[in-house]
Amino acid sequence: MEQAPIQHNESVEMLAALLHHTVAETRLRELASVLLPNADNHLSKADLVDRIVATQAWPEILDSIQINDFRVCSECGALMHEGYCCDMGYKYYCSDSCLCHDFTPEEWALECQQEPQSYWTDWFEYYDLYKVADSSF
Ligand SMILES: [Zn+2]
Repeated sequence: MEQAPIQHNESVEMLAALLHHTVAETRLRELASVLLPNADNHLSKADLVDRIVATQAWPEILDSIQINDFRVCSECGALMHEGYCCDMGYKYYCSDSCLCHDFTPEEWALECQQEPQSYWTDWFEYYDLYKVADSSF
């Protein structure tokens, strides 16, 4: 897979807020020791979150903290909290432009009719938490 472009989107902000407000600092330091072996041990929690998110190692980050509110786009590797789910997670697409690599709009409409596990959705269960957290993040 190609290197994902640097992301500064809503999904990334949500993940950063979630990491900051819901994950223990010791867990973040464990994760940083894997993703950022040369990171300074004295980084503040906020800096730690920034550095972890900047790696864009979404599968590793999501795996290690067991957060189920995000997926990774099968086409471009972007982090996503909403988007297209194809065939119960066989593939995910973050946007229309990623979806159209595999489906025309007509093909996708047909896919959704024939396969109930293909749809557009959002996975972000902590949205209210995020809104609360946002004011202090
Ligand atoms: Zn994508």
